[in-house]
Amino acid sequence: MPYFVNKTLKINILSVAIPFFITFLSSNTVFSQGVKSVMNQQAPNLIIITTDGYRWQEVFGGMDTSLANNPKFNQGDSTYIYNKYGATTLVDRQKKLMPFFWNQIAKEGMLFGNRNLNNKVDVANPHWFSYPGYNEILTGYPDTAINSNEYKPNPHTNVFAFLNKQPDYKNKVVAFGAWDAFDRILNEKVSGFPVINGFESITQLLQDPVAISISEGLKDSYKPFKEVECLDVYTHQQAMHYLQTKKPKALYISYGETDEWAHHAHYRDYLDAAHQVDAWIAQIWNWVQHTPGYKDNTYLLVTTDHGRGFKDAWTDHGAEVNGASSIWFALMGPGLQKLGALGEQSKEGQLFQKQLAATMTKLMGNPFKAEHPIGEAIY
Ligand SMILES: [Zn+2]
Repeated sequence: MPYFVNKTLKINILSVAIPFFITFLSSNTVFSQGVKSVMNQQAPNLIIITTDGYRWQEVFGGMDTSLANNPKFNQGDSTYIYNKYGATTLVDRQKKLMPFFWNQIAKEGMLFGNRNLNNKVDVANPHWFSYPGYNEILTGYPDTAINSNEYKPNPHTNVFAFLNKQPDYKNKVVAFGAWDAFDRILNEKVSGFPVINGFESITQLLQDPVAISISEGLKDSYKPFKEVECLDVYTHQQAMHYLQTKKPKALYISYGETDEWAHHAHYRDYLDAAHQVDAWIAQIWNWVQHTPGYKDNTYLLVTTDHGRGFKDAWTDHGAEVNGASSIWFALMGPGLQKLGALGEQSKEGQLFQKQLAATMTKLMGNPFKAEHPIGEAIY
């Protein structure tokens, strides 16, 4: 148990015990509250959400007017983009694009990676594309040998496999990814927890009518990214339905459209995809904070696998693209105060993607251990 949980428990016991003894037998209500608070001290839950190749520039700056104005990128509809995401002030642009990030995470959680304030986050791997980035997030080890999106099943233990080996989390771990590479990135066969990716169906895990309906939609859906990656809405619906039905204690969700539409040079679709991911994160967090066992007992990390270029190079990434190593991340969960002030981090500094796995598990009071080197927690 992490020390801050023990501290909370002690306070709860004291605050219950003193009035209990003072009011003695008449305090049924106080007693039942005491039992409830003790029962809530379950091992904390972990939710990691990624949205592929989404830039820090939009997270912290909102819509980029030069891209919205550019006929190469605005899909012939700058009016739509301006109406939906345009605003004269920075704060309004931030909130129009990512309302949950700026109305809630920026107040109750932490936001890192605003390079306009010299608060920097980068990938530590030298490749600046997806498999190396997801490997770095999930294993804490920026292994330079992982240099291709076609790389074999990941030889390194990831943080979800680590949790799945522990009694509190055993068989309560699951991952959903829009891109069909996650079976390899998370090495599903070795890791021992289900990874539903690409066009794989949740009916492997659940056979209720909702699960069947979602999977039928997935199968028949529009496939702009061919068979490699499904639309995010299906990944989200499968993950959300599993979360509500099976109540996993550790959940990974990877959305992919932000990267796909950026490669297509579709700035409108890119912004819409990011705005939708923000709404889904809000939906997930709202459920978490209204569900016993999850409320005030869940750590959320939201981040991305890599950055992208500046100006016209926003469509691209990879080691040759200036700026594509720059990323961001967001945290929510109990006891974040010990990391310093809440909100958008405005201090100069440099953090790395490889630190996220250790940071999350340290927050949970259950530090990640593996056979490979792991980046240090950020506190
Ligand atoms: Zn990409």
